[in-house]
Amino acid sequence: MTRDFLHELVGSMSQGAAGNPTVAMIEAAFAHHGLHWRYVNMEVAPADLADAVRGARAMGFRGFNCSMPHKVAVIQHLDGLGESAAIMGAVNCVVRRGDQLIGENTDGKGFLKSLCEVLDPRGKSVVLLGAGGAARAIAVELALAGVKHITVVNRGEGRAIELVTLLREKLKLSADFAAWTGDYAIPAGTDALINGTSIGLYDADARIPLDASSLTPGLVVADVIFSPPRTRLIREAEARGCRAIDGLGMIVNQGVISVEYWTGVTPDPAVMRCAVEAALRLS
Ligand code: NDP
Repeated sequence: MTRDFLHELVGSMSQGAAGNPTVAMIEAAFAHHGLHWRYVNMEVAPADLADAVRGARAMGFRGFNCSMPHKVAVIQHLDGLGESAAIMGAVNCVVRRGDQLIGENTDGKGFLKSLCEVLDPRGKSVVLLGAGGAARAIAVELALAGVKHITVVNRGEGRAIELVTLLREKLKLSADFAAWTGDYAIPAGTDALINGTSIGLYDADARIPLDASSLTPGLVVADVIFSPPRTRLIREAEARGCRAIDGLGMIVNQGVISVEYWTGVTPDPAVMRCAVEAALRLS
């Protein structure tokens, strides 16, 4: 095989991610910008991850995304990590730089880009619902961007305490944990509320246990859920005069950053958002 006759390749290593809107989004960006690149989705079982990375290396892939359950396990097969990926200990985007495969995390960066369109995070107080992979990526990027304080609200204690400890010890951030029992009331003085849980995924009516009266006008309310994008939280926040940010912005922006890492070209986010909406049958 010679590279001369091939498009440059990037890919996605996932498990059970058929119909992934990311494929449509990245391919749309390549087509729109006349890039002779292809993005291919591959099912990789955990036991095959090492071979899959070796294969991507051998075949000259310019990089790849990885989704759960590979985000942590992939690290041992890479040559280095970007700053935030090293802090959070998870990689969703691998980039070939020279002959090295470097792990980055674009989930939190994509979220931050969406947030910054509405609110400058510097010096702000944030309530973050959830302590899983998405919440952890968001928390680390918010800390690196200079937020003042993060309260992590989570049902289970283990991962939440681990996240708060990481924020305090590795990032020297003021952070605390609030146990999630009953409807959580967002404290006065909070600038942004972020849903980083999976509540609402594929269920437009799923209710997040929140005291709705604490969704006050002007509060920024962001949701990681992109399917459906108009979650119950987003609808309720808008109805109460909050500034709402849906999860589509995060997925599009993490794709924008990935394409920039791989190709050096800054793609048009509008083209990518259109492709995601079509893949999710929203348009
Ligand atoms: P994880 O499984 O790692 O974490 C899930 C989190 O949701 C945990 O904090 C969990 O709490 C909490 N949770 C789940 N169900 C409930 C419930 N019924 N009540 C209270 N808390 C609950 O998932 P990820 O962090 O990887 O992903 C979270 C969501 O983010 C997913 O829906 C995913 O689709 C979305 N996402 C969106 C992206 C985008 O680009 N828009 C990018 C990445 C993810 P506990 O610890 O107590 O179990």
